[in-house]
Amino acid sequence: MQRNRLSVDGVRFEPAVIEGNVNVLETPNFVMVKRSWQPDQEAQACPLCKCKFGGLKRRHHCRQCGLVVCNKCCNEKIPLPQLGIEEPEKICESCRPVTAAVTRSRSHMASMQLQAAEELAGMCKDSRQLGKIFEFGGFHTLLAQSKVHLDTPNMEIMAHIISALHTLSTYEPVQDYMVSIGILRGICLILEKVPGDKEQILLDGISTLCIYCKSKTYLSKVLETGGLQVVLRLCCNTSDTVVLMSVSTLSMLVENPSTHTAIIDGDKAALQRMLKLAAAESPQMQAVALKCLNYLSMGTDWNKHRIIQEDFTAGKPMKTALQTETFNMQVWANAACLVANLATSTEDQAPLSDCLDCMMKLLRSDITNVDLLSHITRGLANFARFPQNSSRVGSVLPVLVSKCLKHTDKTISKHALRAILHLLVNQTDNTITELLIEGASEVFKNIVGTLDMTDAMFSVLQDLCPDMARPL
Ligand SMILES: [Zn+2]
Ligand SMILES: [Zn+2]
Repeated sequence: MQRNRLSVDGVRFEPAVIEGNVNVLETPNFVMVKRSWQPDQEAQACPLCKCKFGGLKRRHHCRQCGLVVCNKCCNEKIPLPQLGIEEPEKICESCRPVTAAVTRSRSHMASMQLQAAEELAGMCKDSRQLGKIFEFGGFHTLLAQSKVHLDTPNMEIMAHIISALHTLSTYEPVQDYMVSIGILRGICLILEKVPGDKEQILLDGISTLCIYCKSKTYLSKVLETGGLQVVLRLCCNTSDTVVLMSVSTLSMLVENPSTHTAIIDGDKAALQRMLKLAAAESPQMQAVALKCLNYLSMGTDWNKHRIIQEDFTAGKPMKTALQTETFNMQVWANAACLVANLATSTEDQAPLSDCLDCMMKLLRSDITNVDLLSHITRGLANFARFPQNSSRVGSVLPVLVSKCLKHTDKTISKHALRAILHLLVNQTDNTITELLIEGASEVFKNIVGTLDMTDAMFSVLQDLCPDMARPL
């Protein structure tokens, strides 16, 4: 039989194998495959106390790990239902703590189950016990018991279990294994069923999910397991801390475009919620809600339309975010990025009018942050594409030239050039007059400095008036 091999901080171990490979979430009384016994002749000394065997020192087999140990190190007997053994059997000192807790978890008494969960949670924090937690069924027990205590709710036990699963999830080398056993489903079930006022349990649960969302591979597994619905529900929790953690998790899930329809057109009013949070009191909350909206704004025109529509219904939180008085670069940058993305939509230019004003006001202010300036310039270029916005964007033309077109950051100067070219097309005379006062030379320098652009211009001109011809 092939056992998995894991290693954490140089300690190698082989996690328990469950008989019949059953899903422990559905089979709380699972039985582990017994480990093979070490042959007597292989053992010359007790691995725990190092005393030599022979003479009066007799050999004993630990029923859990199968190693040969001395009597002193193997003098306790406990029943091992997790190995299919109901009678008390000899267990070595090394296996005892985890094994005793796993045995206790099978008790019918709530106090014993509570003690088991508490002990296992404590041992998860001790990296020396970590391997044994996996080897002797501690992890499988935590996962199985999480389901048991949801069906007959015992929140005290649940608090220890979720805290333990959270701790284990922080060890990167065991994440893959735990995902294969079903930890994501377990966490989602807990988050689905635990009452909304159990703040600490919910926080531990959502933080655990968040750990897995940081990896692309696990992120799609979280989605497959129903994580999106769970997170969306928790975004409406009454605790700000739970909401912040949930929206942060959501901001990772929305990187996957398959989530967008459920958020934008789903039945949970999630989009409305995100927009409300974009105008929340806490800048941290605003920033993550805006980050979610940003990902949503990168999709179809319909998605953009829905965001703009809900923004209006929610009392224009995007405008509020752009007007946030307290200095918070992340909020402004995320809000400006969102508005810039939305401004590409051919419909819905009118409802964004307030946001355009805010962007122009920010541009005129003394901001210097490159990210923010880049989003604002991009937004103005997008707005300038539409003739109905020309005269307003034209009113900041001198600032666009001095602050953006002359900027050393290439992205900013190129977006500025794009804005100015739109203005030249849509409002030719006014724009030329303005540029002649200051800026014409910058525009030409930028055009000449963009080789692809001059190439494209030459190729169009070549078609219109070829550089070779027959004699007349
Ligand atoms: Zn010994
Ligand atoms: Zn042992």
